[in-house]
Amino acid sequence: MTERRRRMPAGLCDRCVSQRLVPTRNSVFTLCEDPRMPRYPAVPMVRCPAFVPREADTGPADPAPG
Ligand code: SF4
Repeated sequence: MTERRRRMPAGLCDRCVSQRLVPTRNSVFTLCEDPRMPRYPAVPMVRCPAFVPREADTGPADPAPG
């Protein structure tokens, strides 16, 4: 079965160890497992004090504007 659910890009959350993706019938939501942050953060996340990159991620945590 090939089913496509819409998922809004979650910015920083998409590169964070605390992100858990929660599929619903039509969408996929970002759930944050870090207790310091809202359980369902407003995405796309641009800056987050609790961001921890996933192991393979080498990009900047706080990209410079431009
Ligand atoms: S800690 Fe911040 S960047 Fe990581 S998933 Fe939670 S809200 Fe997103």
